[in-house]
Amino acid sequence: MSILLEHAELLLRDAAGYRTLHDGYLGIRGSVIDYVGESAPEAPYARRLDMRGKLVMPGLINCHSHIPMVLMRGIGSGLGLHEWLFETIFPIEDRLVREDVAAASRFALLEMIAGGTTSFSDMYFFPDETVRAVAEAGVRANLNRCVQCFDENQTVEENHQIKESLALFEQYHGAENDRIRIDFSIHAEYTCKPRIARAYSALCAERGARMHLHLSETEREVRECIERYGVTPVAWFEQMGTFDSPTAAAHCVAVSAEDRAILRAHHVSVIHNPTSNLKLGSGFAPVREMLDEGINVALGTDGAASNNNLNLFEEMHLAAIMHDGYHRDPTLISDTEVLDMATVNGAKLQGRDDVGVLAVGKKADLIAIDLSRPHLYPVFDTPALLTCSAQAGDVCMTMVDGKILYENGEFLTLDAEKIKAQMRAALARLYA
Ligand SMILES: [Zn+2]
Repeated sequence: MSILLEHAELLLRDAAGYRTLHDGYLGIRGSVIDYVGESAPEAPYARRLDMRGKLVMPGLINCHSHIPMVLMRGIGSGLGLHEWLFETIFPIEDRLVREDVAAASRFALLEMIAGGTTSFSDMYFFPDETVRAVAEAGVRANLNRCVQCFDENQTVEENHQIKESLALFEQYHGAENDRIRIDFSIHAEYTCKPRIARAYSALCAERGARMHLHLSETEREVRECIERYGVTPVAWFEQMGTFDSPTAAAHCVAVSAEDRAILRAHHVSVIHNPTSNLKLGSGFAPVREMLDEGINVALGTDGAASNNNLNLFEEMHLAAIMHDGYHRDPTLISDTEVLDMATVNGAKLQGRDDVGVLAVGKKADLIAIDLSRPHLYPVFDTPALLTCSAQAGDVCMTMVDGKILYENGEFLTLDAEKIKAQMRAALARLYA
């Protein structure tokens, strides 16, 4: 299939930053962008789409989520991380069955696709169900089976999550034209023991896989780790050999200058989760410092139970303004930096250098924004418009791998009504 987008406002990224190509043309052949220009290409395209009044930009990348947690949207509101997780969320998760995750994954994908997310990195139970949902929906994802361990004498052979993680990697890594990749994952320092963390990190490095963690989300987490091991969670994971693999670390709110030096030395990417950090009262990650130090910072929503949605436009908005307000400096984080976090930096974190910008040779993962909405006019500064005015509901088209998944309110790969019915059934079972 070949598609030509005509008369679009195209958001392009070059060394100088973002610029908009007015009345531009973008051609897609198969899964790849094969033309970007200000005049119509000579080559023929099977389908031509008039994109007048629409801004076409790279799809957004949600680098830290637990998408089946839409099952718990709004539960435990008002609690801090520890009470929220151990006393509210874990008991519900103990009751989860495979069908719940299958239904909730598809339900969450409706929200994400309609909101302009084209790729995400997820950490949850029954990930093979999420793999199937992603395959069906047509989005891109780095998925994993996260490992936990509460017994310091447990061996690798006794840890069934490691077994599942390895099997998932063998079966699905690179599936669906490489749309699906399988990462390794340790849930967090406080939910794992050294013996398992060390052995599993070695298994990850042996396979050349990537690692996804929760890291230094709160001051309490750091304090308790120092009490247990005499080092911060960042130093602990370094000792475990975890950072020998390309690592994505969610949160990094409570990281010292020494911690950040370790992250930088090992090229660890950080996922900034503004809403989750504010909602759970975790604090303000030192994003300016991390960017200045050359650490790759991407964006995530975290799960819908601590957000309470999967809307990356809200994350961009908060990332653009919260640090400025907190530090009383309106120049602290630029809109360009925020757009990078939601696109190219996320692509880098996922190990996917073929997405994140609109350019010839890149995968056609892109979205269109309907500029006819009153809150998107006038357009003086496109990056500012996207970070501080645009809403997820302004997305009118979502394309991944050259295939349109969502267009003018219609889902083209998922049966929304059937999925809503399955979600209702899962909720009835879970909260019976
Ligand atoms: Zn999380």
